[in-house]
Amino acid sequence: MPDPTTLTLYCEPCPRCALHAWQRIERGRLLWTSEWRCDTCGFGAPEPWNRSEGQGRPPEEVRAALVVAEGTVLLRVGGAGGAGLRLLRDALGLTMQELLTAVRDGYDATPVEARFLTGLLSGAG
Ligand SMILES: [Zn+2]
Repeated sequence: MPDPTTLTLYCEPCPRCALHAWQRIERGRLLWTSEWRCDTCGFGAPEPWNRSEGQGRPPEEVRAALVVAEGTVLLRVGGAGGAGLRLLRDALGLTMQELLTAVRDGYDATPVEARFLTGLLSGAG
């Protein structure tokens, strides 16, 4: 007799199943939420499947869904008028390598991240 929990893990979403993700700013914190839902096969209905939430920079697959849905805003990093390096590290937990890349190429922030960082910058300055 298979364990029902195991069965859910092995269910196969149809090709239209998608990870939905969004971000928001709440009490000065950057928060994200994601869940699997599908209008085609009803996956994730009535209860959202595998909903997860967190703070700061979302995991890669969540962030990818955000970028697809909302696009990105290129933030200039470092230098005059650029977002502070320390701010970027503290708020989004970027590694040193990612920071260096961001200084060179700019940082592809989601619109909510951009608003969050800009808000922090104006508050800090
Ligand atoms: Zn589906």
